Amino acid sequence: MRITILGSSHGVPEPHRRCSCAMIQVGDRYYFVDMGMNPIDDLRTRQIPVEAVKGVFITHTHGDHVNGLVGFADLVNWYFKAADPVMLLPEQDVIDLLKQWIPTVNHGSIRDLRFACYKEGVIYDDGVLKVTAIRTQHIAVSYAFLLEAEGRKVLFTGDLHHGSPTDFPEIAYSTYLDMVFCESAHFPVTEYKPIFAKCDIGKVCVQHYAPRFDSLLRGFIEDMKPLAVVIANDGAEFDI
Ligand SMILES: [Zn+2]
Ligand SMILES: [Zn+2]
Repeated sequence: MRITILGSSHGVPEPHRRCSCAMIQVGDRYYFVDMGMNPIDDLRTRQIPVEAVKGVFITHTHGDHVNGLVGFADLVNWYFKAADPVMLLPEQDVIDLLKQWIPTVNHGSIRDLRFACYKEGVIYDDGVLKVTAIRTQHIAVSYAFLLEAEGRKVLFTGDLHHGSPTDFPEIAYSTYLDMVFCESAHFPVTEYKPIFAKCDIGKVCVQHYAPRFDSLLRGFIEDMKPLAVVIANDGAEFDI
C-alpha cells in the first residue's frame, strides 16, 4: 500500500500546502481519504487514470476536507464517464447539495454517481481495501478511518477534539497499527505524547498541522524516539 499526501495543510492553504487529501494506492486501485482539494490535476500529472479511483472517503464535511469533491465529482460526471468511484460522506445534506450542484453546472445533466451516506463501522470492503469508520468528537458528525489492505493497518485520525485529542480512537490502544496519520491543527502535537506511549505503532505521520504549532514539531520528533515520527508536506509518499 502506498499513501501519498496530496494535501497536508490545516483549514486553509499555506505556501505549497493544500487542504486535506490523501491518495491510497493498492495495486492498480486508488482511493482517497478526504478531498479538501480536487486531485484530478495530480492524477493527470502522475498519469494515473481517473477510472482507477475506486473510492473516496470523507472523514467529515468541513470544507477543508470536502470542497475538492465538488470539482472531482463534476469532472467524473461529465467527462470521465468510465470512472465509477464510490463517494462516501457522513452527512446526507452535503450529498443532496452535491446532487444539486452538479446538474446546475452541467446543463441539468447528472448521471448515476455513487454517493452514499455512511455511519459507524465497516463502510467499504472491495476485497482489496477495507475501511472502518470510527466516531470522533471533532464536530457532531466526524470520523477517523481504519484502513486495512495487504495485511497492513493504517489509521487516519481525521480531525479530533478541539484542545486535546481525548477522542483518539480506542483501537490504537489494543491493536498494532503499521502507521498513523494524525492532525495537529486543533491542539499542540505534544498532546499525543501520553497517547503514543500507550500504543504499539510502526510509524506516525503528522499532517494537517497548523503554523501556530510549528515550533513544537522538531522537538516532538526527538522526544518520541524510538517511535518514528515524520511531518508530511504535500507530495510525501509512504510505502507501508
Ligand atoms: Zn480540518
Ligand atoms: Zn474539521
